[in-house]
Amino acid sequence: MTFHAIVVAAGSGSRAGGAKQWRRVGGRPVVRWSVEALLDAGAQAVAVVIPVGADAEAEEALAGLPRWFAVTGGAERAASVRNGLDALAERSPEHVLVHDAARPFLTRGVVEALVAALAEAEAALPAMPVPDTLKQAGADLVVTATVPRDGLFRAQTPQAFRYAELVAAHAAWDGPEAPTDDTVVIERAGGRVRLIPGDPRLMKLTYPEDFDMAEALAGGMREVRIGQGLDAHRFGPGDTVWLCGVAIAHSQALIGHSDADAGLHAITDAVLGAIGEGDIGDHFPPSDPQWRGAPSDLFLRHAVDLVRARGGRLVNVDVTLVCERPKIKPHREAMRTRLAEILGLRLDAVSVKATTMEQMGFTGREEGLAAQAVATVDLPRA
Ligand code: MG
Repeated sequence: MTFHAIVVAAGSGSRAGGAKQWRRVGGRPVVRWSVEALLDAGAQAVAVVIPVGADAEAEEALAGLPRWFAVTGGAERAASVRNGLDALAERSPEHVLVHDAARPFLTRGVVEALVAALAEAEAALPAMPVPDTLKQAGADLVVTATVPRDGLFRAQTPQAFRYAELVAAHAAWDGPEAPTDDTVVIERAGGRVRLIPGDPRLMKLTYPEDFDMAEALAGGMREVRIGQGLDAHRFGPGDTVWLCGVAIAHSQALIGHSDADAGLHAITDAVLGAIGEGDIGDHFPPSDPQWRGAPSDLFLRHAVDLVRARGGRLVNVDVTLVCERPKIKPHREAMRTRLAEILGLRLDAVSVKATTMEQMGFTGREEGLAAQAVATVDLPRA
């Protein structure tokens, strides 16, 4: 089942002491957590509703993520949601999830349960039972009543809808007050709203002290993956060897279907391995003539794009080149610089090492050379 999403990040954050959607938690902006989670769960597009004039902040916070666009917010939350709905109209969404950016720790499991619930209800939302006894009190903080908590739930977001019905229900809203969430609009229109189990991690960051709790939660929301790759190519006639994206003058060339850059191939396999995406041959079959002589940075960029499409991030790579000749050391810094550029990493996250096999084996006899790589990837936890 496909869905589009709206992330409401248009608040001024007066209670949180500033615009909290751009503030960093666990090393990434609050709004980025939600957008990554929605993309990771398969959102076809995410409309991010932002304050007037905050385009630069949004661009920076969401840099590198695919399939999102900014929409300017309205005077209050409901108007912002309507702007998001309008902006999605031309994509003819079937289902739409509306989410508050201030609840960063969204999981794929919650999104999947919400979308599934739409099969038998007009709307669905995650909700938590209320475990505490509820007291009612006046401004003087003197208790006037103990409120039965049976059947009471705390509403969270995202809230899931059939797009056309939510648009119609918002248009039909005639309450004197602005709706504080979106499912109430469906309730008022007579639709069935279904609860799915909420997630305590979907806490809303409201007050400055909430950020300490969020910082503690952030570590548990991501997982680190490691992948490894190994490649070898045979020497043949020629005068240039391509290694880690750098051309090296040599008395031979490496033979292969593409440019035979064993360094880039090993790193590509390591990145693909970290996300369980098979190997380079699955994505770029040697039988396909379009990859003949292809520059191998194209393969590696594709692997990194797959990581980003899952809301992930490459953390570091480490590659070891195994050969007697050409000598690697004079080219090592050029290789690191080139890899850092291809991978979008800082130089200190890119390592190139070289060794010989002491004239033993196929690399020792200079029949060919080999490369071995490790890559670390940071992914959202499902
Ligand atoms: Mg290869």
